[in-house]
Amino acid sequence: VQSKKPSASMAKDLKRKRENDSPLQAKRLKLMVSRKELPIWSRKDDILGALEKHNILVLSGETGSGKSTQIPQFLLDASWCTKCVAITQPRRVAAISLARRVAEEMGTPLGKSSPASKVGYSVRFDEAIGPSTRIKYLTEGMLLQEMLRDSSFGQYSCVIIDEVHERNLNVDLLLGFLRELVYSKRRKQPLKLVVMSATADVVGISRYLQAGSPEPSSNGDQTTENDEQEWNGFSENERPARTASRVALVHVEGRQYPVTLSYLDKPCDDMAQAALERIFLIHCKEPLPGDILVFLTGQDKIQQLKASVEAFAANLPPKIPPLQVLPLFAALPQSAQQQIFQPAPPRTRKVILATNIAETSVTVPGVRFVIDCGKAKIKHFHPKLNLDSLLIQAISRSSADQRKGRAGREAPGQCYRLYTQNSYNILEQATSPEILRCDLSAAVLTMIARGVKDPFRFPLLTPPNPKSMMKAMLQLLRLETIDSSGAITPVGRKIARLPLPPNLGAVILYAASEASSCLAEVIDIVSCLTVESIYQHIETESAREEALAARGTLTRRSGDHVTLLTTIRAYAAESTDRKAWADAHLLSHRALQNVLAVRKQLRAQCLSAKLLSGKTFPEDTDAGDPLQPVDEDLEARILKCFIRGFVDNVAKLCPNGSYKTLLGNEIVAIHPGSVLFGRKVEMILYNELVFTSKAYARGVSAVRVGWLEEVWP
Ligand code: ADP
Repeated sequence: VQSKKPSASMAKDLKRKRENDSPLQAKRLKLMVSRKELPIWSRKDDILGALEKHNILVLSGETGSGKSTQIPQFLLDASWCTKCVAITQPRRVAAISLARRVAEEMGTPLGKSSPASKVGYSVRFDEAIGPSTRIKYLTEGMLLQEMLRDSSFGQYSCVIIDEVHERNLNVDLLLGFLRELVYSKRRKQPLKLVVMSATADVVGISRYLQAGSPEPSSNGDQTTENDEQEWNGFSENERPARTASRVALVHVEGRQYPVTLSYLDKPCDDMAQAALERIFLIHCKEPLPGDILVFLTGQDKIQQLKASVEAFAANLPPKIPPLQVLPLFAALPQSAQQQIFQPAPPRTRKVILATNIAETSVTVPGVRFVIDCGKAKIKHFHPKLNLDSLLIQAISRSSADQRKGRAGREAPGQCYRLYTQNSYNILEQATSPEILRCDLSAAVLTMIARGVKDPFRFPLLTPPNPKSMMKAMLQLLRLETIDSSGAITPVGRKIARLPLPPNLGAVILYAASEASSCLAEVIDIVSCLTVESIYQHIETESAREEALAARGTLTRRSGDHVTLLTTIRAYAAESTDRKAWADAHLLSHRALQNVLAVRKQLRAQCLSAKLLSGKTFPEDTDAGDPLQPVDEDLEARILKCFIRGFVDNVAKLCPNGSYKTLLGNEIVAIHPGSVLFGRKVEMILYNELVFTSKAYARGVSAVRVGWLEEVWP
């Protein structure tokens, strides 16, 4: 035994040495240097101290100060933090890239790749969580879903809600539930809540959280004792007169260098052209290093500008350094996301073409120049059509200021606004919270599933419009997710647990019924509807014809739903080269890969919810010839499921050839991208509307009046 002792300790030393020498550890040590330079690093004691005394901490700090990456790691050092830390993000891309970064900083592998991994993420249709995970990055929707399964959040010691300034609907809901859960007797140990914002405007939020405590103002009059702690980092005039001490506030100053601003003298009509010119003026005039960040409205505009910049850059004189053009939008695959954080190759300038995701969610290093188009895609609710859509509109002044700030993170920078100073002056101060401008049916269903008896009286940070609440209740009633007393039905409970909006959830449930028996097919179509478009972008009429010809064998007369089904099955059946197959059909290989991943997840979720009588989906779903016509009876059953979930989106042919929605009497036209474009059928069902010169229905199929009567007797 004695002779074994030294060798055991030697083995331990050896193990430690090996661990320190491993590439993961080497990377960890290297990153430690830059972590220590982050403004938040010197505030660790303040932050942990505040959470020792208080259950809730509201933390504000400039983008890039280190909140999202460092706070969860700080918390692991607190004695009360014995379980997991959850941290929410508004977007998948941020959740995944932050998890990867923090795993590197901690020297641990990411998620499921190793049982020892301490950091993981969970986003819709993708999860990387291991048995040892201590820090979990999730999208807001995923945390809400978890809450429905475990209402007291037993697995967490702390929940961090990041990016609250964006005021997404799901964040407002989470805050509503969490401010009570923090004091819940159902929990064995208290839950700590950290709410983080990129703007210092957090007084309203802290008051709201304060009011959730069982004794809201019991300490409210004893202001001084904890004031320094509570208002750490805030100047005297930023503090409210009197605060109760349930909620602590900490403000972290960011590092911000001066940014010179320029505006256009007169408004421009061609934003893409103006951005292109500005990129090359900067690139040819300004010395390296100094990357350019361009804010655009969406993926399509980003891809178009990327093509123009690359075409133009190819013809520059050799003495001008090359450009590396990188897109950044929510649907970007992981590998491409990671490129954003890499420094540009030597003697090269990076140009990042981003949506408003780069405003606060993702911090891109190396940027000295910002070009801001002044617009963003913002979600809006159309009460008459009972649906949400994304509209391009002017951003708020606070968004414009955030965008400008991106140029001055590492050195003095320049910001070019592609609009006039006058246009800036008349912008709204801040974007209104999402709760005031979107369909509330998913939110209301979540509240009811979580046990809220009267959603109209549930206290939210911004009370929603009662009319929108009523619309949501009616929609839920119609989908039979709630009964006439407002209580959740068994179907409603199942739908609430699917990671889908209630209408798509209803489609899935209906497909699983014995009468429909087309769950596998409907999951295929729903998977296509939940990812970005599977079609490559088409600009011109001639390109449209080319695309239709290329996709000819996949097109089905009944419309887009069954065409999607045929397409995804043909893609899945392709065994040699899926990418080449996708390109030959002018389809997006990346989107189709995503569809298959979503389908896999949805199938698993339907199995665990026991929506299928068998134990597995028939192995032969993808067998047989996918190009054979779909049986007419099956086709009818599939489309009836969609009528079930989308009855608001049914429109009837009028004598003048236009289509009018049955329930709202609104005129809609078939989108040129639909296989039904140019055809007249008695009735159509569509998946969504896009608004350009008029309301265009997209994802359209022909349906029969008789089916409607069958589904909605
Ligand atoms: P905040 O939440 O305050 O905006 P973050 O913690 O997100 O700040 O970022 C801190 C620093 O970490 C930034 O300088 C950023 O560039 C860097 N960083 C964040 N995520 C990544 C990533 N995925 N890869 C590389 N660097 C990253």
